[in-house]
Amino acid sequence: MIPEKRENCGLFGIYGGADAVEKTYFGLHSLQHRGQESAGIASSDGDVIQCYTGMGRVSRVFRSGSGPLEKLANPIVIGHVRYSTTGSSEVLNSQPVLCEYSRGQVAVAHNGNLVNAALLRDEYEAYGSIFKSTSDTEVIIHLLAKPTHVGKPDPLAHILNHLQGAYSLLFLFPDRIEAARDPFGIRPLCLGQTEKGCYVVASESCAFDTIGAKLIREVEPGEIVTLDKEGVHSRFFVKPGTVTPAHCTFELVYFAKQNSIISGENVHEFRKKLGRRLAIEHPADADVVIPVPDSGTSAAIGYSEQSKIPFDMGFVRSHYIGRTFISPEQKTRELEVKLKLAVVRETVAGKRIVVVDDSIVRGTTTKGKIRTLRQAGAKEIHMRVSCPPIRYPCFYGVDFPTKEELLANNRDLQQIREFLEVDSVGYMSLEGLLSCANLPAKNYCTACWNGRYRIPVDTTVSKFALERYQLRMFEDQSRADE
Ligand code: SF4
Repeated sequence: MIPEKRENCGLFGIYGGADAVEKTYFGLHSLQHRGQESAGIASSDGDVIQCYTGMGRVSRVFRSGSGPLEKLANPIVIGHVRYSTTGSSEVLNSQPVLCEYSRGQVAVAHNGNLVNAALLRDEYEAYGSIFKSTSDTEVIIHLLAKPTHVGKPDPLAHILNHLQGAYSLLFLFPDRIEAARDPFGIRPLCLGQTEKGCYVVASESCAFDTIGAKLIREVEPGEIVTLDKEGVHSRFFVKPGTVTPAHCTFELVYFAKQNSIISGENVHEFRKKLGRRLAIEHPADADVVIPVPDSGTSAAIGYSEQSKIPFDMGFVRSHYIGRTFISPEQKTRELEVKLKLAVVRETVAGKRIVVVDDSIVRGTTTKGKIRTLRQAGAKEIHMRVSCPPIRYPCFYGVDFPTKEELLANNRDLQQIREFLEVDSVGYMSLEGLLSCANLPAKNYCTACWNGRYRIPVDTTVSKFALERYQLRMFEDQSRADE
């Protein structure tokens, strides 16, 4: 029920205001669901950039009233929360990445995954370049610093055309922020404005809600948006309309926060639509509909509305241990799951239950939760999933397990039902999923369900492809468990 998939990263940037760093701090808090392994903020006073990063959540890295936030109190700020999709969970891979090159300083924050990172790094290393991290983000800085690129009329637009894969990027130069989104628009990125007129960018609009800013629009695929002292400027590094977008459908199904607007629609409303459609595609004769909180809740409400079966809370989630599966080690994940969901016996005992979840990845966690429902006295359990069976890994910034580990790989529905030990199982069809979305079906990536990768990928490359020599750097571990 708690899916074995992990977020990618979250970005936040703001130009102007005496409280820009505080707004970044709170903006990152609201994006914490996108990554909890590390957090960082880089800020500029107009001349010099400073950067502070650390392992763990925002509240740990930037403890209230602590020194880093005071030192970073400048008006031009970007921030990042990370889950590792390329490179391991190490402090050396935390972001923003701050560097100096021939044109001065730049700090970069990245959400996504470059599918040509290893190739580009090979090229640079062959000519003697040195890398200090094992993530794909540093490759972008090397591209920016390359002498033949520096001299181009628009170096940033030029180098973005060398990147392949999923990327929403924030570049902090001493005098401005440049926000870019890949030509397919795979990862989200949006533009907003605070009550005082300062412009902000973020992975999700939920970050704007937190700081009292309003959403202006989403950054377009292939667009660079500049925030500087004159306001906002836009340019395209890929001619609009020449690439059909491939927005990540999984952002809508699972990753994004319910109050965010993604691809022009509210995430909660979209998930309720999925639930209603799921009830039509896979009805069940049952007494109660329960969600797997929190990501299954909206779809369960929709399922209940459509089926007229009462909605209730069969699981209670502990909010004190963070979002499950955010830690990389399997042991930690298993422990987190046990701690995370408690069954409400009174809701499920003696009842025929529809359990609604957003997705199933490995299935081992789902199976464990089904068992706890049986132990609590559930009479029948009908599993309903608001997306199709996941059969393929993601190479665009979402960390699914390998193909072999996916529950739906080489298993038909009957075998999945038997594995989960449920009375019935029903997955949303891909057609049904896309019919609920705001944009035409062709504008969404669906590779994890049908294996159609819009950007060609090398399926043999692992997320640790850039870790050739066990480069490691540790921070003060005495604070790691706080
Ligand atoms: S493969 Fe799946 S998770 Fe990855 S970008 Fe495409 S829709 Fe999103």
